Amino acid sequence: LPLDKDARIYVAGHRGMVGSAIERRLVAAGYSNVLARSHDELDLTNQADVFAFLREERPDFIFLAAGRVGGIHANNTYRADFIYRNLMIEANVIHGAWLAGVRRLLFIGSSCIYPRQCPQPIHEDYLLSGPLEKTNEPYALAKIAGVKLCESYNAQYGTSYFSVMATNLYGPNDNYDPDNSHVLPSLIRKAHDAKVTGSHELVVWGSGAPRREFLYVDDMADACVFLMERGLGDGLVNVGTGADLTIRELAEMVMDVVGFEGAIRFDSAKPDGTPRKLLNVDRMTEMGWQAKTGLREGIAKAYQDYLQRFGSPR
Ligand code: GDP
Repeated sequence: LPLDKDARIYVAGHRGMVGSAIERRLVAAGYSNVLARSHDELDLTNQADVFAFLREERPDFIFLAAGRVGGIHANNTYRADFIYRNLMIEANVIHGAWLAGVRRLLFIGSSCIYPRQCPQPIHEDYLLSGPLEKTNEPYALAKIAGVKLCESYNAQYGTSYFSVMATNLYGPNDNYDPDNSHVLPSLIRKAHDAKVTGSHELVVWGSGAPRREFLYVDDMADACVFLMERGLGDGLVNVGTGADLTIRELAEMVMDVVGFEGAIRFDSAKPDGTPRKLLNVDRMTEMGWQAKTGLREGIAKAYQDYLQRFGSPR
């Protein structure tokens, strides 16, 4: 099944960080028929609207990058939103895709679908081998349902829907909300604010001991287009860099890139979440794909994007 340059490709969630990166990557690669709808035009939790849209537009390929996402605090606080919205979006888009004859669909989830106490690095086969981390259990359960929706439609209907599990992502169009964002954008914002206001400290949530892996979103988009072109058939594949660091080390790197020279204060009232989340990326490596952007380089690019959107450059 070739992904021709004029194939009809729908990117669900094209205003988000991942969807917008996929759209940029597709356009740069010469794909000329990329479909997108903003939230105002199409509410993906509305079943009738989603089915009608897909029936009318009949895309051949779908990147399902839409969903309710956020950092540890947002996941832990808006628990109903995270499970409800993600389940509805997946169920509507995946069933609607099958009704509309969509041939290939790539569903995006994240590394938090894996059990909390997983052997590291985390292999795809560890899915459903143990209990989940409580802070993001609603999100994880919704994303696991998405993986199983794809597998079930393939098994019953012979579709070719598959899943990509990303490690922590960051980059252009990220969410920098101080409460609800992920750790990396939050640290960029806090370090920048501290520098600009002449503050002497940077508050980092938790103990600083948890280990995380970070992937620049343009690398994620590159992996997704690579997989869509190649096809995966069934199942899921991890996308990451294969390297992790502690939150303390991350904070030090962000301070260095931003140019803030104060001290770190750890706020132990905030949760640590999963102790470690490092993906095993052997499957992608074996297929011939690997991440290109180093962490420091990626943080520098993300900070430039932050300054363009919210700050005044020095
Ligand atoms: P997680 O990977 O699902 O746990 O999500 P996050 O990216 O939100 O958090 C990762 C780790 O960074 C957790 O241990 C957080 O406690 C820690 N962290 C430190 N400072 C911050 C911050 O300012 N915002 C967020 N979201 N996490 C932080």
